[in-house]
Amino acid sequence: MLAAAAATAIIPLLMCYKIICWWEYDKSKHPVVKPLLCYTTPGSDWRVVANNINIEFRSVDKVCIPLTATSKFVATETWLIRVTQYGMNAVKQRDCSLVATATDSYALSTTGEDEVQYVNIEAIPSRPDVNQFSFRMTTTALREIQSRLRDPVRVPEHISLLPTVIERFVTVFKHHVEQNPVYYVDQELEQCIGCMQNMADVKIDRRCLPVPPQLEAIAPPPCQQCNCRVLWCCACVARWWAARAAGGAGGAGGAGAWLAARGSCPVCRAVFCMLDVRPARPRPS
Ligand SMILES: [Zn+2]
Ligand SMILES: [Zn+2]
Ligand SMILES: [Zn+2]
Repeated sequence: MLAAAAATAIIPLLMCYKIICWWEYDKSKHPVVKPLLCYTTPGSDWRVVANNINIEFRSVDKVCIPLTATSKFVATETWLIRVTQYGMNAVKQRDCSLVATATDSYALSTTGEDEVQYVNIEAIPSRPDVNQFSFRMTTTALREIQSRLRDPVRVPEHISLLPTVIERFVTVFKHHVEQNPVYYVDQELEQCIGCMQNMADVKIDRRCLPVPPQLEAIAPPPCQQCNCRVLWCCACVARWWAARAAGGAGGAGGAGAWLAARGSCPVCRAVFCMLDVRPARPRPS
């Protein structure tokens, strides 16, 4: 009883003491002010640094990634900031390198994808007075921030990031296309007009059977013949297909449902299904 009473008195007293500690010496011991003091120039005040961060934070260019329910990572034009429940880390982008140190994957995720991977990232400041800190985010979030950082997060060779859903879909799509009969072309194959990197290697050629007349009323409209030349590589057709399927009704079912959707020729708009994408090869002489 006595101990409980003492505890109820001691905890608020300790809390008040802590708050007084934060407030004295111009709040220089406050956990949010501490990281800013490293960047205070002589004769100036930490409030100038805070104001600079505030201005950048209001910009549309900042990225804000929630790390947990109570912490987040913010990258503004010049600052990298981690805000947690009881403190804050702030370092200028030019004074810091970000390195991925480990990854771990889970089979279930809240975003509906079948696998989610987290990356641990270490922020290593080049200034001795700034504290090193670490945080973890999903590989998807990492890809999102990479292009917005002054120096992208370095990913050492021994760490392999999970391919994106689209990259994985391209692999599955290619596998299915290879099972369709080869379409031989007499002229030489040209460069893909989509990526300008790979050789064009697929022909959209209708192979699926027409819908029986009794089912015509309920079946989707039949596929159409595409008369375009061999213009695209398989990866470009797969990405085009995925973009269309993800935007349509198939989007909810994830990459598995995308295969059951149908694509349309990027040039002539002819509708085609998975059976109609044939690998194109030069005719053997
Ligand atoms: Zn291509
Ligand atoms: Zn076409
Ligand atoms: Zn078809």
